[in-house]
Amino acid sequence: MGTGQRQFIDWFGDGSVAVVDLALACCAVETEFAVPEQARRVPTPPQGARLVAVVSGTLTDALSGIVKEEIDNLEASFVVSFGACACAGGPYWDAPSVTKGVDQLVAVDRYIAGCPPPPSALTAVLEEVRG
Ligand code: SF4
Repeated sequence: MGTGQRQFIDWFGDGSVAVVDLALACCAVETEFAVPEQARRVPTPPQGARLVAVVSGTLTDALSGIVKEEIDNLEASFVVSFGACACAGGPYWDAPSVTKGVDQLVAVDRYIAGCPPPPSALTAVLEEVRG
């Protein structure tokens, strides 16, 4: 997940919304399934694109510093917490090593419930972001 490997998904293939998925665990399978056929993977966000950071999966305290740095560096205008783990720790909420939600680190614009949520839930949020 290091900066050198960062990849932006031009989600609709039209430069309107660029997504970075911070894929931490099983929810990332669902976010990958949500990527539409017309999407393009690009090394830098298209000019003028709305930048969206998605956190999908279980966040641990050991990883929290890296995830916060990634999101801060992105300067994303919209942050999505995808799935029960990213929202509040999910089934591991009582594990001492698990962070109880990405909003402990950064402001979250949209929480998507589920373990896991369906890919269509992310699609709906990103269509809303595009407007
Ligand atoms: S919410 Fe469920 S599916 Fe998603 S990362 Fe946590 S355990 Fe996996």
